Amino acid sequence: MKTVDKIIRSRRRSIVIQVKDDGKVIVRAPLRIPDQAIQDTIDKYRNWIIAKRKLAEERKKDVPAETFNKGDLFYFLGEKYPLVFREDLPADIVFDKAFYTPPAPPAFVKKRLEAWFRKTARKLITAKVNALAAAFELKHSAVKINSANQRWGSCTCKGALNFPWRLIMCPEPILDYIIAHEMAHLKQMNHSARFWHTVGIMCPDYVQRKKWLADNSHLFSHF
Ligand SMILES: [Zn+2]
Repeated sequence: MKTVDKIIRSRRRSIVIQVKDDGKVIVRAPLRIPDQAIQDTIDKYRNWIIAKRKLAEERKKDVPAETFNKGDLFYFLGEKYPLVFREDLPADIVFDKAFYTPPAPPAFVKKRLEAWFRKTARKLITAKVNALAAAFELKHSAVKINSANQRWGSCTCKGALNFPWRLIMCPEPILDYIIAHEMAHLKQMNHSARFWHTVGIMCPDYVQRKKWLADNSHLFSHF
């Protein structure tokens, strides 16, 4: 079994090893560092990588794959709600403690659900961003909703905030932490002590929320 799935070189200063929720191992490394230095780092952390990968694979078993048939459960703000088929509705999703939609093949239901999540994410996240921007005098240029998987948000140097629609599957305190995190990047484009201080002002118990997300993000990263 190979230890690493992908090595990505970029303009960064250090080597970092990431084990994704799907068990894939990615090494990020500076552009000019010799291959041997990367290999040495991989060797040094080999046991850690194997243990993390095993954990990711075990967690995957806790998350049943969706079939997009009636009875499937989908997270919205940390709670699971069932998919319910109802003939008398337009070809859309109506949410009322369940995802109601007329019966259709799974691929169609999936499309409807994704469209609903996107639309709802845009509304919810934009409102939260605007509230934080006003409270902490932060200036952003745009809020964009994307399909990223296993990346919970990003902030460009031009001040555009990007969030995946899957983010609204997470419990609201986690959603709030991610938004605070990305908006703190409007002041600090790094993860320095000053950056975390800024996050702490907007979200005082961010340490627990960050840890919770690290332990549970696999629940929200599928479909
Ligand atoms: Zn960050």
